Amino acid sequence: MATVFFDTALLADGWANKVRATIIDGVFAVIETGASPADGEDRHAVAVPGLPNLHSHAFQRGMAGLAETAGPGDDSFWTWREVMYRFVDALTPDDLLAVAAMAQVEMLEGGFTRVGEFHYLHHAPDGRPYADPAAMASALAAACAETGIALTLLPVFYAHSGFGGAAPTDGQRRFVHDVDGYARLLDASAGAIAGLPDAVLGIAPHSLRAVTPEELARIVLLTAGPIHIHIAEQVREVEDCIAWSGARPVEWLLDHAAVDDRWCLVHATHMTADETARMARSGAVAGLCPITEANLGDGIFPARDFLAAGGRFGIGSDSNVLIDGCEELRLLEYGQRLAHRGRNLLAGGGSTGAALWRGALAGGGQALGAPAGIAVGAPADFLTLDTGHPSLAAREGNAILDALVFAAGRSAIDGVWRRGQRVVSGGRHIAREAIVQRYRATLARLLA
Ligand code: ZN
Repeated sequence: MATVFFDTALLADGWANKVRATIIDGVFAVIETGASPADGEDRHAVAVPGLPNLHSHAFQRGMAGLAETAGPGDDSFWTWREVMYRFVDALTPDDLLAVAAMAQVEMLEGGFTRVGEFHYLHHAPDGRPYADPAAMASALAAACAETGIALTLLPVFYAHSGFGGAAPTDGQRRFVHDVDGYARLLDASAGAIAGLPDAVLGIAPHSLRAVTPEELARIVLLTAGPIHIHIAEQVREVEDCIAWSGARPVEWLLDHAAVDDRWCLVHATHMTADETARMARSGAVAGLCPITEANLGDGIFPARDFLAAGGRFGIGSDSNVLIDGCEELRLLEYGQRLAHRGRNLLAGGGSTGAALWRGALAGGGQALGAPAGIAVGAPADFLTLDTGHPSLAAREGNAILDALVFAAGRSAIDGVWRRGQRVVSGGRHIAREAIVQRYRATLARLLA
């Protein structure tokens, strides 16, 4: 048992002062407000809950910045994907451990305390399964054990290169399964994460491009946990879906799958007003990745209308080209401002920073199947802020979150705790140095 004292903290029902949190076995057991600090008690000025990062492909951290040079033709998501396929060609489980740990260090430093790994790099470089079908998942779990970040593992089912069951390409050979092989992967993945204290296992049909309707119907029966899918990220994907089925991707999914609050629809960038309203009503979370969506030129999610319809959202670092919770939230709002030429469009009538932080916390927790927030029963995952940061000067309550999201960013995050253990101090992860060194050696080999 341990206690920690906050002069002010963002709790489930809003800001409270003089907060003492009692932590037992890594979980908030008691939260008192209006308390008095005891002599020598671990005391911090401002605490906010750590954010869930609901969508990551950890290995892509290693190719951050490698696809920012113009090619011979027009560059797009699809030419970026070719760079990604080349990067994964030789990656081993040890390489994945090194790259994932680096990404997770930056996630924790950037305000994320749980990651949803949309994990599709399963097989050996020649496309054959490893002796342990979850060898790559075990590498991700080992990275989490090193860095302390919480894991929701979402093993990806990937079988086809396009709508209508098209055969996979050679570049996809490390990703593909049939349904029986995928069921074995899920069993092995449960074993791979068993040593982590609060890991969650879900599933991830990759996209409607990669999964037939029959396969989708079978794999959703394999889990009682979260279900994540990439959807409607690209205009070409929408056009191909219409050519195949007569329906748009989100429309097709809502018509053919029992989409509910266990689902996370990642991107959902290209929707009609009707799809936007229907998706909001479904209770599914929109998995938004504004930095990656901007980097890949995907388009702008209809966030203003989706939230006005009661839709739930969370944020993800996706390609990990830049890992920063504050910047994801800021860009989410700024995309709407640029599109609609207005301000405070996702505020819900109050503070935009608070609406974004609390929305991403609730939606991210839902999508990752884990309680989130500074609340009894939730893991003791929280951030403490540097109140000496100029952008936080004389700020109180929601003005702190507005300043954090729009002005200071991650430079104001001082400490990060996971299950009551401090993993980031002075803005730096406690194992940063060794993890960076190993990452540099791995990249030197991979990119030689
Ligand atoms: Zn993705």
